[in-house]
Amino acid sequence: MELIDIGANLTHESFAHDFDAVLERARTHDVAQIMVTGASREGSEQALALAKAHPGRLFATAGVHPHHAVEYDADTDALLRRLADEAEVKAVGETGLDYHRNYSPRGVQLEAFEKQLTIAAERGMPVFLHQRDAHADFLALLKSFRDALPAAVVHCFTDTREALFDYLDLDCHIGITGWLCDERRGTHLREFVREIPEGRLMIETDAPYLLPRTVRPKPDHRRNEPMFLKHICEELARDRGETLEQTAAHTTDTARAFFGLEAPAS
Ligand SMILES: [Zn+2]
Repeated sequence: MELIDIGANLTHESFAHDFDAVLERARTHDVAQIMVTGASREGSEQALALAKAHPGRLFATAGVHPHHAVEYDADTDALLRRLADEAEVKAVGETGLDYHRNYSPRGVQLEAFEKQLTIAAERGMPVFLHQRDAHADFLALLKSFRDALPAAVVHCFTDTREALFDYLDLDCHIGITGWLCDERRGTHLREFVREIPEGRLMIETDAPYLLPRTVRPKPDHRRNEPMFLKHICEELARDRGETLEQTAAHTTDTARAFFGLEAPAS
């Protein structure tokens, strides 16, 4: 079985002390390839460096998360354009809107989101998108760019069934994380994840965040890591009425097509 984690924040400081062990555990838990999320200027450069150091296994995205939208200036735009030219960078993002925390003002978030959609449209690259409590504004801006983008994934989807179908109607892909396993705030997802068609569904850990609450035994450090992707895939498979192998196979095929990845040699 081969799994692809389409969103792991492996540049996070919590991975610095045992990075190689994290990758090895991922491999022994069938995670064949990982997209390292770039979510800030520095983080996007670090994500590329990790991808270069692990060819064929790690790949990167380059973007500025809405939380960091205040750092999006002309230099940042130039940096992202430079990073987007690198072979290991497979998507623009993480970008989008987050009105849950509003770490950056909404107007600033909208501007940074639009700038990054512009880069992706000009380069013909897929986008890796984040949306929280901002569905209407997010959908409106995405709609205006959608025809110019080859593909778009709404990562860590946590919203309603109506929002899901708004995205599917725009021919977006959907990323599902261990949020699904959260009995306090993820149970609504279990009712409609089976409605995401094969070919539009991908899986991710969002590590080190969102440790699936149903993982046993619970790791004492509370850090999520790519090895738990298999657990997420199992839970998702059950909700979809599929076998683990089926869900693994089609989400992996979808991720390879979405990001333009070849299967690793070994
Ligand atoms: Zn996100």
